[in-house]
Amino acid sequence: MAHFTVIGLGRFGVAASLELIHLGHTVTGIDRNEKIAEKYVSDLTQTVICDATDENALRELNLGNSDAVLVAIGQDMEASLLCTLCLKKLGVNELWVKANTAAHHAIVSKLGVSRIIHPEEEMGIRVAQALHYPMINNYLSLGHDQYIVEVHIHQKHQVFTLGELMHGFDQKISPLLIKRGKENITAFHDNMTLVEKDILLLSGHRQALAALAPRLYPHHL
Ligand code: ATP
Repeated sequence: MAHFTVIGLGRFGVAASLELIHLGHTVTGIDRNEKIAEKYVSDLTQTVICDATDENALRELNLGNSDAVLVAIGQDMEASLLCTLCLKKLGVNELWVKANTAAHHAIVSKLGVSRIIHPEEEMGIRVAQALHYPMINNYLSLGHDQYIVEVHIHQKHQVFTLGELMHGFDQKISPLLIKRGKENITAFHDNMTLVEKDILLLSGHRQALAALAPRLYPHHL
């Protein structure tokens, strides 16, 4: 369990905070707007009404105890930048900042933050990927064009084996796991039959995964 501080409880900040709580972490939510901070009192571990551009106020919050601080102030770029600057001065190392514009990104990147987030763009890319590869439910980028993808075996698939699915891709794609109900299967063999509702985790290069993807269309096999 880790502790996070989220500054700015707009839609993005709240969604991130609630998900962190859901994942079992503790979250301090900060907003300068009293009504907003109060609205999430019972959902978050702690809420604080505070102007996050006020260095002294931030110092009192001991943000060094947080495993990471997320600045989720978007529209008010000046406030976001001032807040980021204060947090750097206070020695917060793991600092993630949401940036709404290219100018915002450019300035924040000069402040040496750990990660700059562009929610709309990142979500747009994910949605496009989902539309392009509807058979892929989720994916994780490992960098250098390597991915882990999650595939749900569809009820309209005819029965087929792992060997048939992977034929020609053995050297390029590795099956990592088949989740079947509560069971996690990690020992594979080619004759293993994939059945409806199996969840398959595969890892490999984007090009190889893209080439394999059509085999997973419900009408293909
Ligand atoms: P979203 O799209 O996530 O709803 P947004 O990008 O429109 O948010 P804002 O509305 O600018 O971002 O800010 C999100 C939250 O940050 C708001 O609840 C606002 O009250 C809070 N906020 C803005 N400036 C400060 C500040 N200086 N200190 C603390 N909170 C702030």
